[in-house]
Amino acid sequence: MADNTNEKVLVTETAAEPVIDKHYQLIETKRAAEIIDKAMNLAREEIPKGAVATYIPELGKMDPHQLGICLYPLKGDKICLGDYDTRFTIQSVSKVIMLIVALEVCGLKAVFRKVGMEPSGEAFDSLVELDVSNSKPYNPLINSGALAVCGLLLPEVSFQDMIRYTRNVCSDMDIELNESVFDSEMKTCSRNRSIAYLLESKGIITTDVEDTLRFYTKMCSMNVTAESLANLGKKLANDGVCVVDGKRYMSSRTARIAKTLMLTCGMYDGSGTFAIKVGIPTKSGVGGGLLSVSDKRAGIGVFGPALDAQGNSIAGCKLLREISNKLRLNLFYDPEWDKENADENSDETVLKDMQARSVM
Ligand code: GLU
Repeated sequence: MADNTNEKVLVTETAAEPVIDKHYQLIETKRAAEIIDKAMNLAREEIPKGAVATYIPELGKMDPHQLGICLYPLKGDKICLGDYDTRFTIQSVSKVIMLIVALEVCGLKAVFRKVGMEPSGEAFDSLVELDVSNSKPYNPLINSGALAVCGLLLPEVSFQDMIRYTRNVCSDMDIELNESVFDSEMKTCSRNRSIAYLLESKGIITTDVEDTLRFYTKMCSMNVTAESLANLGKKLANDGVCVVDGKRYMSSRTARIAKTLMLTCGMYDGSGTFAIKVGIPTKSGVGGGLLSVSDKRAGIGVFGPALDAQGNSIAGCKLLREISNKLRLNLFYDPEWDKENADENSDETVLKDMQARSVM
């Protein structure tokens, strides 16, 4: 269990190398670690406002006070704090991996014949729009979309293939299926079962529905850490290529599509707000995981199992927001436009500034 002492602080080296590519970021690793540490303390204050997921009974046993992060820059040293090496189930973050493999194995046309590319504005396990319209699932990062993707994957790859790919892309050979979470979810997944049968009735799932549901649930039940997610994020941030071994884990196009969908749809019905406040493509899971990609700069993995109303890690979102602001990780941040003090962008100053320039 985590406490405020951050006993697991690990900064691999306090090199003079900047934590982020020097064109964007001038803070050294040690300084960045201090900033992240402060952000962790602020983020912990959010924990009492959230709760662990209980609709999968096994997840209800998690300690809500845990919080960990791993930020892995493309250039520079990895920063790991708090419960960064605690295992938890990947849950919906696996939808990104399923999408990547489906795009690689089945192709773009096949995938987007089954699912859309639009944010849904609905809860992650919603059936509403799916039933009232003739439409396919809004996107591959909600339950209905991921189940449709699983229907595509099932004839092509086994779960063993998927776990092997997950281990490789997360640079974590210890990733295993968490049998108790899998069993627990299989006993209580009536909503997902309904979605899957509805998709079958619409001709979107053509594989055996129960096999498809089991495949999906197994993918959600893999045990990862914040560090494994940061490793995946780092490959996505580097166009699908591992900085360490130089291997390509997915095509550029696949990496780009995954990141775009994470930005627009990765946080369920909280995606728009998150994009405004944080501006880093991110995918959440009800196990408390967050996979974030600061493009060309860093992969970030976060673990914080207390969730907000949308099913996103409540402390994790606060932590990412703080880090995005302080380390200038917002996707639309450009150092040329914002060389000065961050405070100059406060609403008040901007308004005064606009008035001074007679544009308002
Ligand atoms: N296995 C979970 C479900 O299908 C994943 C949901 C999530 O992580 O958001 O309900």
